[in-house]
Amino acid sequence: MAKIKYKYNPSTLNYEKIQLTIKDRLKKIFTYLLVSLFFASVTLSLAYTFINSPKELTLKRENTQLRKQYELLNRDMDRLATVLEDIERRDDNIYRQILESEPISKNVREAGVGGVNRYSNLDGYQYSNVVINANKKLDQLAKRMYVQTKSFDEVVGLAKNKEKMLASIPAIQPVPNKNLKRMASGFGYRMHPIYKVRKMHWGMDFSAPTGTEIFATGDGTVAQVILSRGGYGKHVVIDHGYGYETLYGHMNKVNVKRGQKVKRGDIIGLVGNTGTSSAPHVHYEVIKDGKKINPANFYFNDLTPEEYDDMIEMSSHANQSFD
Ligand SMILES: [Zn+2]
Repeated sequence: MAKIKYKYNPSTLNYEKIQLTIKDRLKKIFTYLLVSLFFASVTLSLAYTFINSPKELTLKRENTQLRKQYELLNRDMDRLATVLEDIERRDDNIYRQILESEPISKNVREAGVGGVNRYSNLDGYQYSNVVINANKKLDQLAKRMYVQTKSFDEVVGLAKNKEKMLASIPAIQPVPNKNLKRMASGFGYRMHPIYKVRKMHWGMDFSAPTGTEIFATGDGTVAQVILSRGGYGKHVVIDHGYGYETLYGHMNKVNVKRGQKVKRGDIIGLVGNTGTSSAPHVHYEVIKDGKKINPANFYFNDLTPEEYDDMIEMSSHANQSFD
């Protein structure tokens, strides 16, 4: 109920009831509404600024979760990029080198993807950088994989035309080594077993009992049979052609003669401990154009990719060589 208001009238000396016109009433109501609206909006805007609604809280949580997912994706893609890099490296330095084909230039492999504005639709959000980063990485991976697939198509084509060459190039381990237990020391700086100093080890050592059969690792001709007391001891060098030679050191017995033709897998001698050697083993070298190179890259016929990785891991430890 509206209050009845009175007003003192000095001329009649009476209190008189104040009669409000419709206009006055409307004005009053309107003012009242306006003030309420003002306070309501101030309160609401303060609330929206400092207090989250349940819906906003859910969205915020979801956003944080999504950002984390994107960060994980980014990390996974970095890992994939490393694997791809290893494949590219092998393609350039092993397959292409063996098949005498030029490596693919970095420019081609890492050519930019799209224009500058390719990701502009993802711009302007709180976590834009994470999302753009993930998209960029994915595009780069896709591009690099495409280049790599094309490259392998080419490599397969080259290999088909080079059967004789592939039969000649060293491609197996020099001793039976199914479980890889015999890989003792790799190519690189190693502690010398006798001189006890760090020295470059130019080959790979496979430890095996004296008398274990040693295989020719590719087709070729026996270029040298040397029966020395020091150094490599009794050892054999095979010339495979195409600039490749292999050396097998510290033999107990040599089964081949100089000039003899051998096939991959032929037994050329037996494991021993002759020359500068600390235990029965084969010291195996791969030589390309007169330069000793890492034999680890020349077991593609008898190692699966997983075994290859294990072998690289084992041979890269800075353990002592048998020399
Ligand atoms: Zn060695």
